Amino acid sequence: MADHATIPDVFDRAGQTGPDHISRESADWRDIVREAIRDPLTLCRELGLPDNLAQQIAASAVGFPLLIPRTLLGRIRPGDPADPVLRQFLPLTAELQQVEGYSDDPLEERSASPAPGILAKYSGRILVLAHPACPVHCRYCFRRAFPYSVMLKDRTPPQPPHGEFSSGREGPLPRLVRSVTAYLERHPDVHEVILSGGEPLLLDDDDLASWLSELGKIPTVRRIRFHTRMPIVIPQRVTDALVQILSSCPKSLVVVLHANHPQEIDGMVLAAIERLRAAKALLLLQSVLLAGINDSADVLAELYETLAAVGVLPYYLHQLDRVSGTHHFEVAEVRGRAIIQQLRERLPGYLVPRYVREVPGAPAKLPLL
Ligand SMILES: *Cc1c(COP(=O)(O)O)cnc(C)c1O
Ligand code: SF4
Repeated sequence: MADHATIPDVFDRAGQTGPDHISRESADWRDIVREAIRDPLTLCRELGLPDNLAQQIAASAVGFPLLIPRTLLGRIRPGDPADPVLRQFLPLTAELQQVEGYSDDPLEERSASPAPGILAKYSGRILVLAHPACPVHCRYCFRRAFPYSVMLKDRTPPQPPHGEFSSGREGPLPRLVRSVTAYLERHPDVHEVILSGGEPLLLDDDDLASWLSELGKIPTVRRIRFHTRMPIVIPQRVTDALVQILSSCPKSLVVVLHANHPQEIDGMVLAAIERLRAAKALLLLQSVLLAGINDSADVLAELYETLAAVGVLPYYLHQLDRVSGTHHFEVAEVRGRAIIQQLRERLPGYLVPRYVREVPGAPAKLPLL
């Protein structure tokens, strides 16, 4: 069963606003997170989908619930269950099939954690599970069955539940920051800290500021990297205050965005990325190759061209990790290679991503071409 922390645990439901208010550019990102669609029938009604699809969604989403912020609705074609944005977040009964070769931990990440909240798989960099929840549930997620509660567990009790994860200065966040800084002091060869999750930009500004200031004090840390889907999903998260916090970080910053289809990139997303550029971060994109969504050179070329216009370069195109419930998204590697070849013939070299697969125990992601 999935153990992904869900938003209701993290955000209280006080101060609700109506659905009409929250996809505006001026809306508060916390309201958008809180007001995300969780009810299958609401989703079907809002998008003009047949009501009977709601039953299929409800039956399929067990353990990893439906979660779609309203900011995405305007980027989905109404009445089309095959829409390439909707498909990424739409639970289907195919998820319930047990398929040979698919498991809950294909990357063997559970054994790559030297300390609570830290994954140390590759030389010179560590990945930190900075926030366990996400503002959206991508059905192909490689961490959909991830045991956050186990991975984050401190050996010293008491351990508050996920619900208190980002609340209060004495909660588990300072503990995680301490655990990471202590690890970095013991491992001066680690020069890059990747704040990931879940979704690191669900941390509030104060928590992010403390991460950056604590990491900023460690001389052996050269770079801080974010792996985030937030500027794409909820561009309102990129506030002037956030840009200010990022700008004052003394280390070089890398922000790796996650999007899979050009239809995810609307005017508000482009504006958020423009704001992010003011923080002088290196902006990169990672995507997952997904059947029926972006397994086409046309779609990917448009995605890369659109983002290049705002200074974002493609970094990785990931072959799907074989996590239970995701087999219907898999694209054969031979097809992935053909797509990359076509991209090479059409785009400048810097707009062609590295097509990679994760191999447990390997010293880096494995290039597939
Ligand atoms: C992908 C990944 C990284 C980063 O790898 P890069 O090749 O540096 O982008 C680091 N740690 C873990 C656990 C990862 O999965
Ligand atoms: S945003 Fe990333 S971690 Fe969260 S559900 Fe989507 S793929 Fe998974």
